[in-house]
Amino acid sequence: MLPIRSILYPTDFSESSAQAYRVACSLARDYGAKLIVLHVAPPETVYSGLIAAPSPNLYHAELEKWLEHLEIAVAGIRVEHRLKEGDPAKEILGLAGEVSCDLIVMGSHGRTSLERLLVGSVAETVFRHASCPVLIVRAPLAAHTPPLV
Ligand code: ATP
Ligand code: MN
Repeated sequence: MLPIRSILYPTDFSESSAQAYRVACSLARDYGAKLIVLHVAPPETVYSGLIAAPSPNLYHAELEKWLEHLEIAVAGIRVEHRLKEGDPAKEILGLAGEVSCDLIVMGSHGRTSLERLLVGSVAETVFRHASCPVLIVRAPLAAHTPPLV
């Protein structure tokens, strides 16, 4: 059997990835797995000589706000937060290899949502190249879906 000890959940704080979060939390709870929440910030931008790097403080503030908005109780789940910078798919795949996660759970679309495509480019690239199973959650879940966690 394939043990599921750690689950990588990448989020861009979109509604689509919020649906995937509910699934990721439920699986983490059911398998007793560690949940690794990852956000990939855009690469450093240079503004007239000043380098604006993604700030961990800003990230944590945004993450907290988002988690509050989701109103999901994650009591009992071991959660680790990671912040990376750069190309989202590359960073997601990089961390997946680094931590040897057993499963990646992600949304089908994100902030730039081009719904005419089945999945977004980040989801597709991760799905194509990951060396572990990838669960892509199509949003929205059915309206009658009861609270998962
Ligand atoms: P595209 O980016 O190609 O215009 P899209 O935004 O609709 O399309 P994706 O970017 O593939 O779709 O997003 C699908 C999922 O990938 C998101 O729900 C999220 O789980 C993950 N994801 C996308 N961008 C990031 C990011 N910057 N950091 C972490 N996870 C991300
Ligand atoms: Mn996107």
